[in-house]
Amino acid sequence: GEGTWKAAYASAQTALTAADDILAGERYAYGLCRPPGHHAAVDQFGGYCFFNNAAIAAQRALDAGKRRVAILDVDFHHGNGTQQIFYRRDDVLFASLHGDPDVTFPYFSGYSDETGEGVGEGFTINYPLPPGTSVATWMAALDEALAHIHRAECELLVVSLGVDIFEGDPISAFTFQHADFIALGQRLAEAGLPCVFLMEGGYAVADIGVNVVNVLQGFEEVMQSVK
Ligand code: ZN
Repeated sequence: GEGTWKAAYASAQTALTAADDILAGERYAYGLCRPPGHHAAVDQFGGYCFFNNAAIAAQRALDAGKRRVAILDVDFHHGNGTQQIFYRRDDVLFASLHGDPDVTFPYFSGYSDETGEGVGEGFTINYPLPPGTSVATWMAALDEALAHIHRAECELLVVSLGVDIFEGDPISAFTFQHADFIALGQRLAEAGLPCVFLMEGGYAVADIGVNVVNVLQGFEEVMQSVK
């Protein structure tokens, strides 16, 4: 529609600014990217996404000299675009927790046997989870993903931050409560990597702000305690 290009371009620029803040030495940065990006692939838009902001931020970090970057996608929906962009590469590890694609958009990708190809083999990791998955089960999958990221010696973490994992989200089926987002932020901080948060989905409009702030507050609390 009218304004789409302008908005999508500005969203990608927001991601680049957040990445640049990290490259300049900040421990974390949050990019309020609108529209989101994780469904945008090399030659395809979808799911309200036009430019893949997380991929653009990761590439910026590589261009600045980082050897390997992790993109962790916690949005309820599989980041099919991000996966496609890096599927045959080993300089970006893509890990995603999401609703089982058998019953969830984007349906055709995000299965656990999608693990990368060629030199990219092992640098894509998917955790499809059924509707109604408990927060404890989700967090256990997160811990596995973070362990994988640690083993791959990634130097920077880009978080595709979708807060549609909230129980009250009208189009999603996970069970996060407000307080669980604080715990999520804490766990991400404990991973010990510089962290670029980029906004993806979230459709419980009145709760998006609370949930995002809770993630950042959880992260900040751990940062303060290790100072
Ligand atoms: Zn989503």
